[in-house]
Amino acid sequence: MTEFVIPPPPVAAVPVVGGGLFPVRRVYCVGRNYAEHAREMGHDPNREPPFFFGKPADALVTGGADTPHPAHTQDFQFEVELVVALAEGGSNIAPESVPGKIFGYAVGIDMTQRDVQALAKKAGRPWDMSKGFDRSAPIGDIVPAARAGRPSRGAITLTVNGVEKQRGDIGDLIWPIADAIAYLSQWVELKAGDLIFTGTPSGVGPVVRGDLLEGEVAGIGKVSTRIA
Ligand code: MN
Repeated sequence: MTEFVIPPPPVAAVPVVGGGLFPVRRVYCVGRNYAEHAREMGHDPNREPPFFFGKPADALVTGGADTPHPAHTQDFQFEVELVVALAEGGSNIAPESVPGKIFGYAVGIDMTQRDVQALAKKAGRPWDMSKGFDRSAPIGDIVPAARAGRPSRGAITLTVNGVEKQRGDIGDLIWPIADAIAYLSQWVELKAGDLIFTGTPSGVGPVVRGDLLEGEVAGIGKVSTRIA
């Protein structure tokens, strides 16, 4: 019998509303999926197909825990996003097959070291250290699709210390959930346990230590974290 030579790392997991834990395999993120945010980042939302990047599964911050301010950024920013949790995967999934593969939905924050990302873009370097650093993905509890239905519109908002900074509507996604996931499955085989952060509306901005971030998607739920 072949055994692990060191104890295997724990499985990353997100609590589920109503009980239980959703085990996480991979975390994918969609870039620039709301027109106003694409514009605020200096891009034309009408010209670009979606693109994807990843975060490590163990970068998730659950249960309202603190998010540490990373050492190497002077511009630590929030991006509130609707997150989709998959109960099944596949390759080359048809958009109409996507809803049947969704376990549930959550609200997440794609924390970003914006100055580090800007340097990476300029130098043609990867985004791992600006997007996929430790504890870069606060996430609220996952609402099963059986409770949430199929969200197609509803406000997505983020406040910092109670002051609203981001407001959009998930009905304004350039690539709706089913289309974004179908397209992603042309690039990688998706599997049960995958999470997809579906992009952020406009209004992203910086935070400092002590700030309280609260994100919400109407009909789905909330996420909160304090910058420590
Ligand atoms: Mn994002």
